[in-house]
Amino acid sequence: MRKVIDNPARPGWVYLVGAGPGDAELLTLKAARLLAEADVVVYDNLVGPDVLALLPDTAEQRYVGKKAADHALPQEQICALLVALAREGKRVVRLKGGDPYIFGRGGEEAEALVDAGVPFEVVPGITAASGVSAYTGIPLTHREHVQSVVFATGYGKEGAVDLDWPALARPNQTVVIYMGVSRIGEICRELMNHGLSPDTPAAMVRHGTLPAQRVIIATLADLDAKAAAEKIKPPALLLVGTVITLADKLAWFVPDETT
Ligand code: SAH
Repeated sequence: MRKVIDNPARPGWVYLVGAGPGDAELLTLKAARLLAEADVVVYDNLVGPDVLALLPDTAEQRYVGKKAADHALPQEQICALLVALAREGKRVVRLKGGDPYIFGRGGEEAEALVDAGVPFEVVPGITAASGVSAYTGIPLTHREHVQSVVFATGYGKEGAVDLDWPALARPNQTVVIYMGVSRIGEICRELMNHGLSPDTPAAMVRHGTLPAQRVIIATLADLDAKAAAEKIKPPALLLVGTVITLADKLAWFVPDETT
């Protein structure tokens, strides 16, 4: 392939890189180049196994995510680690699932780098909503269905999910909720309480873009029960809106049932 840009990774810099939603081919060329040039790659849970398989043997790998019983490295320590590695003169890639600036704490890490005077670049990635949309045949917008799309997080800091329910329950809108699986019942209930019909199509997608992709299509009234019956666990993405009806016609990706 012709080299498009001659801008090699620089020692002492941190690259906040989006790894995309899972399928390694959804990495950008820039992400792939920076990974190949990295001295150290700092990554966590959501980076797909096929992406990790691309990491060069020459790069040190630092896992900072949650493992079953273990705890994730606290955010401040991740920021401190990035600063320390850059100050050692390393070419640091901070690899994050999806896009670094969508529910990925990339903003917090970039702020810490600025505060520490560490130079950095940000490489966008395909966010879970886009990846899931394409691979399930659920366009996030469609002229005959919606005029807007909203991304929200179902992760509440203390207990209840604190979202702007009237705004999320507006008609003619697609709602995508990240990190919402454990609160699925509450989320569907609030959307119905704020005016969405119980028949509104709702979907839950796990392992989007990967061979293990699982899609549950239901309504606001029964998504919770269906997801429980299928034992869908986090992380998964929740989608709400009539665009979901298009999946019947537009789904093209065939997951591997044996995974
Ligand atoms: N920065 C990431 C999101 C991090 S928040 C991005 O832009 O995609 C983590 C949440 O993203 C998960 O709880 C889940 O809701 C969603 N997610 C990430 N990858 C996913 C995938 N392959 N399939 C379904 N949901 C995914």
